[in-house]
Amino acid sequence: KDLIVSFGEMLIDFVPTVSGVSLAEAPGFIKAPGGAPANVAIAVARLGGRAAFVGKLGDDEFGRMLAGILRDNGVDDGGVSFDTGARTALAFVTLRTDGEREFMFYRNPSADMLLTEGELNLDVITRAAVFHYGSISLITEPCRSAHLKAMEVAREAGALLSYDPNLRLPLWPSAEAAREQILSIWDQADIIKVSDVELEFLTGQESVEDDVVLTLWRPAFKLLVVTLGEKGCKYYTKDFRGSLDGYAVDTVDTTGAGDAFVGAMLRKIVDDQTVLQDEGKLREVLKFANACGAITTTEKGAIPALPSAPAAVELLKRH
Ligand code: ATP
Repeated sequence: KDLIVSFGEMLIDFVPTVSGVSLAEAPGFIKAPGGAPANVAIAVARLGGRAAFVGKLGDDEFGRMLAGILRDNGVDDGGVSFDTGARTALAFVTLRTDGEREFMFYRNPSADMLLTEGELNLDVITRAAVFHYGSISLITEPCRSAHLKAMEVAREAGALLSYDPNLRLPLWPSAEAAREQILSIWDQADIIKVSDVELEFLTGQESVEDDVVLTLWRPAFKLLVVTLGEKGCKYYTKDFRGSLDGYAVDTVDTTGAGDAFVGAMLRKIVDDQTVLQDEGKLREVLKFANACGAITTTEKGAIPALPSAPAAVELLKRH
C-alpha cells in the first residue's frame, strides 16, 4: 500500500501580475491552480509517488480545468465530484513585497463546500496508506460531515492520518471558531504539520520553544512538525525531537512551500514508515522536505514551482 489520498479543496488563485500592490491597484491577475490538499497530491506525484485527490469542483470550465491539471500531473481524480449548481472556488491573492500572501475568497458557497458524505469515493479512500487533510473542509456543512466520515473510513482501513490545518482566518466565522474547530480533530491525527504562525494562533504564545510546541503534543501522535519558513523546521516524536535549518534560495513567492514540504515528507514516509521511529532517517526525510519547500519558493505559483525528486537532490548536494 503506497497511495497518498489528499482530501479537501482545489481552487483557482488569482495572483496579481505585480507584487506589493493592493487588489484594487493590481493591473491584472494570473490564474494559478491551488488549494493546499490538491497541491499536496500534486507534490507527491511530482516526486514520483502515487497520489489521489478527493473533493468537489464546480461543473464549469474552471472545475474541468482543475480536474485536468490533476490528471496531467499524474494524480488519480477518481475521487473528484462535480456540482452542477455551484461554482469552483476562487481566491484573489495579494502578494506583499516580502513574498507573503493575503487572500480574498469567492465562496458563496463554492462547490468544494458542498461535498456530501454520499458522494465520497470510498474505494479511493480505503486504498489510502496515508490520508491527508486540512481544516478548510471543516468550516461548513455538508463538507464538514463528509470530511469527518472520510477520516473515519481511512482510519478503519488502516491509513495513517496526516493533518495540516492550513489556517485561513478570513474563511471562518471567528478566530475562536477556527481555533476550536481546528483543535476538534487534533487528537485523531498520526502526523501533524503546523507553521510557526499557526502554532502561535493555536497556543496563543509567540514562541516556537519546545514547551510551547509540546502543549500541542498528544500521546498517540507519531510525528509533529513545525515549519519555520526560511529557517527550516522542528520535529517531535515520542522518543526524540530536534530541528533542521532551511536552505537559502532566491525566494520570489512562498505559495505552496508548506504543501511541497508535506508532500515530500509523506512521499518518503509512505515508502518506509520506520522513519517515524528512527531519528537519523527522519532527519534525512525532513532535509528533503525542507529542500522541496525551498525550491517551491523560487518560482511564482504553487503547482508550477513544485520540484521533482532530482531537483531536490541537486539542492541537497550543493549544501
Ligand atoms: P505556505 O506558504 O505554503 O502556507 P507554510 O506557512 O505552511 O507555507 P512555511 O513554514 O512557510 O510553511 O514553509 C514550509 C517549508 O518550506 C519550510 O519549513 C522551509 O523548509 C521551506 N521554506 C519556506 N519558505 C522558505 C524560504 N523563504 N526560503 C527557503 N525555504 C523556505
